[in-house]
Amino acid sequence: MPLLRAGVIPAGFDHGFTTRDVDPDALFAQRTDLRLFRGLQVHRADVIVVQGDEDPYDVVAEAADIVCTARARVAVGVVTADCVPILLCAPAAAACAAVHAGWRGTVQRAVQVGVAALVKRLGARVDDVRAAIGPAICGPCYEVGDDVAAEVAAVDPGAVTRGPSGRAHADLRRCNRTLLCAAGVPAAQIEDLHACTRCDPAGRFHSYRRNRELRGEQLAFIGRPG
Ligand SMILES: [Zn+2]
Repeated sequence: MPLLRAGVIPAGFDHGFTTRDVDPDALFAQRTDLRLFRGLQVHRADVIVVQGDEDPYDVVAEAADIVCTARARVAVGVVTADCVPILLCAPAAAACAAVHAGWRGTVQRAVQVGVAALVKRLGARVDDVRAAIGPAICGPCYEVGDDVAAEVAAVDPGAVTRGPSGRAHADLRRCNRTLLCAAGVPAAQIEDLHACTRCDPAGRFHSYRRNRELRGEQLAFIGRPG
């Protein structure tokens, strides 16, 4: 299965989380029904609203860890290799967004900035928003320093635990779910794929922490073909 999909994202949106069996660049090279737009990911919480007539090469040069659109035949995406990819959509407004949240993006509440962009800039109702939390490093795999642990705990105290060694571990997927609920997204409309990039039993994903280097990244994308 080269692409993972979330049941919470309704038909009408094409979406997916790639595995390491897929070359993200090749995935959209052949498609004529969807053009992919990504921002330059810099671990912040800035947003781009894509209109569809931009040059994808200009958009990817613009710093943005959140990319959203309400245009048909436009897909928005983020790439990750342990950080949390989150896909959002609001069917009634035909709007969608892709969010990249490592620990920095998580504590800067990037996912809430994404929800706010759908609501304030693209006319969505927050109770119509669906969210899919894709493959990302799990809490037990993600040991962090006390400084990072304190910042994550300030957002969601339950997202930080202590491992057997006494070192702190951060569960960023849980933290982003907490942020989505706090923003008003109904819990029943939030799906965590519960896949860890580092300890996945089948080794389906690129993982920066497991490989100790960046060998490749997963793409998460969402868009309306028409
Ligand atoms: Zn893990």
